[in-house]
Amino acid sequence: MKKLCAISLLLVCLLCGCAGSAPVERDIFAMDTLMLIRVWGCEDDASAAVSEINRLDALLSVTNENSEIFALNRDGEAELSADTYDLLVKAIAVSRRTDGAFDPTVYPLVVAWGFTKDEQHVPTQEALDAARSLVGYERLESDLDVTYFSIDGKLDFGGIAKGYAAQKAIDLLQSRGVETAFLSLGGNVQTLGSKPDGEKWIVGIADPNTPSQAIACLRFTGSLALVTSGGYQRYFDENGVRYHHILDPKTGYPADSGLASVTVLAHDGALADGLSTALFVMGMEKATALWRESDDFEAVFLTEDGGIFATEGAAPLLTDCDFTVVER
Ligand code: AMP
Ligand code: MG
Repeated sequence: MKKLCAISLLLVCLLCGCAGSAPVERDIFAMDTLMLIRVWGCEDDASAAVSEINRLDALLSVTNENSEIFALNRDGEAELSADTYDLLVKAIAVSRRTDGAFDPTVYPLVVAWGFTKDEQHVPTQEALDAARSLVGYERLESDLDVTYFSIDGKLDFGGIAKGYAAQKAIDLLQSRGVETAFLSLGGNVQTLGSKPDGEKWIVGIADPNTPSQAIACLRFTGSLALVTSGGYQRYFDENGVRYHHILDPKTGYPADSGLASVTVLAHDGALADGLSTALFVMGMEKATALWRESDDFEAVFLTEDGGIFATEGAAPLLTDCDFTVVER
């Protein structure tokens, strides 16, 4: 009987294509970026993760005319699905924690700079002032407890949606019994479990001056989300000045905090994503102050003058570079 069970188990594994050491891989384009999905499981598991990411993209995209966010931004009101509501709650929590450095109502500013349509340009002061008058996460808070939502501004989940999607895909894989997975959603990395061969996960941190090359690596085992925000990821040059896509809601201009990139490590993908954007806006001093009063994230900071700084919890994972440890 024991032998029969062993044979049928093996059969089940063969039939569904469950991998022992070789993962099932998918490359997709979603949320305006290339994504890699690597699942130590069945073909169906990988397909389920892909469907989940595509579903969230269709819901949360600011540019897709059929998305819930597009309708909300167009009409100023909408009935929110459970996911949009859930993400809104998470986004507002990050806004509060970072004193508005992360702000999901930043969309009018993103449009003013032309980042949504690849028509980037420096806006006039008039256009900037008009956009800024519509930005402020505080305006969202009074309506938070309802699923029917109205807003006199516009939402943009571009700074948090990929992390949320990675987390939801990992949650789904886990509910399907998958124990190991590696997702890279346009550089937003999230791992589930440890590699079957016992090797560490290795995730590179891009060199801001040569983004195709790693300036350092993070090596670790187990489940983790690692999200990098950097000015080098999307930018344009006008009259010899570089303008990037991470905006300081307080000034309306691209954040000028002395940082070239921030990589946040956390157990929740959405939190890591929202915080990476926020810490980039805040700069080293405010970001490390927030880290000192928090216990749910670690970070690696690359400064514009070439420095590398790692918080105490990130430091043991950081390799292949010289760096300074940020102490509590
Ligand atoms: P990320 O790459 O996660 O840092 O997100 C950058 C994207 O988030 C931008 O392309 C904008 O769509 C949006 N964004 C820009 N500035 C902010 C901000 N201060 N708070 C929230 N979202 C932002
Ligand atoms: Mg982000």
